[in-house]
Amino acid sequence: MFSKLQLKMTLYFSMILVTILFVTNFVVYFVMIQYNQHQLSTEVTTLLTEIENQTWEYPSNIINLEAKDLEEPTLLRSFSVYIVFSNEDEIVNFHTDERSVWESVRDLSTQVMLSSDPQIIRIKSTTEFYYLVAKRPIIVNNKQLGYYFVGKNITVVYETLDNLRLILMVSLLGGSLLSVVIGYFIAGSNLKPIKKAYEAKQAFLANASHELRTPLSVIMLSTNTLEAEISLDEPFQQEIVADIKEVTKKMNGLIENLLLLSRSDTNKLATTMVRFDFSELVKNELESFTPLFTHRNLTLESKIQDNVSMEGDEKLLRSMVSIFVDNAIKYTHDFGKVRVELYQEKVYSKQIITFKVQDTGIGIPEKEVEHIFERFYRVENSRSKKTGGYGLGLSIAKEIIDLHHGSIDVKSKVDQGTLFTVVFKEK
Ligand code: ADP
Repeated sequence: MFSKLQLKMTLYFSMILVTILFVTNFVVYFVMIQYNQHQLSTEVTTLLTEIENQTWEYPSNIINLEAKDLEEPTLLRSFSVYIVFSNEDEIVNFHTDERSVWESVRDLSTQVMLSSDPQIIRIKSTTEFYYLVAKRPIIVNNKQLGYYFVGKNITVVYETLDNLRLILMVSLLGGSLLSVVIGYFIAGSNLKPIKKAYEAKQAFLANASHELRTPLSVIMLSTNTLEAEISLDEPFQQEIVADIKEVTKKMNGLIENLLLLSRSDTNKLATTMVRFDFSELVKNELESFTPLFTHRNLTLESKIQDNVSMEGDEKLLRSMVSIFVDNAIKYTHDFGKVRVELYQEKVYSKQIITFKVQDTGIGIPEKEVEHIFERFYRVENSRSKKTGGYGLGLSIAKEIIDLHHGSIDVKSKVDQGTLFTVVFKEK
């Protein structure tokens, strides 16, 4: 139970940590991209402003000045690439640091808008190149003589960002693994006091139940002796002794059930798994209920297939059968009907044993069905009160079914009846 809880807690813890890690990584990466782009863009814009403030040199003797006559400002050389165009879109001057991408840059330069903000272009050559580019007009003596295109190679920034992405991804993976390990240990240490308290409660339950057994046996024995001693003409005393006997019997049953559950919780339930005749077991059990059926005017319909062989703990399975039949009797009105079925069939080469108990009783409200296997759970206490149980029967039955790797299904309709179907798969 606790190892399952520890795994569940680990899962939640790791999920939270991985989400935090993922969001942090994503934010770091996004901020880095934005910051770098902003820095570079500011740098280029500053350079462009400075260029605009620089004068384009030209020979003084030229009358009709054109772009090809201009000598570019020195600052233009601080770009990885620049191209000077005439008003007729002809290249009149250029420079590039990277010859392998010159043609691509030249072609892309025509698509850049004049005077727009610097933008990033990606050029695919043998490797990938990133350029931050812009285009500005050449104004000399208040006259536009052409325009120039500039580009700054920012591939190294992108490579750094790529590396950063890789580092973040590796850290995310490593962090996730680490968070699982840390989560497992934190969950374990958090569960320790709970586990301790739970074990103490279990030990108390087991000890208290165990200790109560002896005085109860003494009461039982003494009552039997008392019963034998009371003369028949003392009806009042006889009644009191009978009451004591009944209550003691009930208490005994409750203590036995509590012991069984606490042993099962602490995996101390000793089981003896043997192969036995399940058909005989069910038949015998039904026979022991005959007086009750008669007393309550109930009809018992049984369809027990002969020689159904089962491997399991005979004593526990007998209790399970008894719980379902007892409940069917308890929760069915007089003159009602109880049907018990047992059969074995082969499904996909596996032996399947099905045990069914159906009654025409009061039924279980739909919203209560999911709770009936919980300990001490009783449907609408007022209606169950007269049957005098403690709400442990079905939780014990479920425990026994789980122990035998079986499954249980309940179908019920209020005032029409209930059908319990237990299925065991043979290995
Ligand atoms: P108990 O019978 O001692 O109350 P159980 O664990 O056996 O405890 O059953 C839990 C509850 O499920 C019961 O209180 C009862 O309301 C309901 N229940 C069980 N079996 C039947 C049945 N055959 N028909 C109707 N209600 C049932």
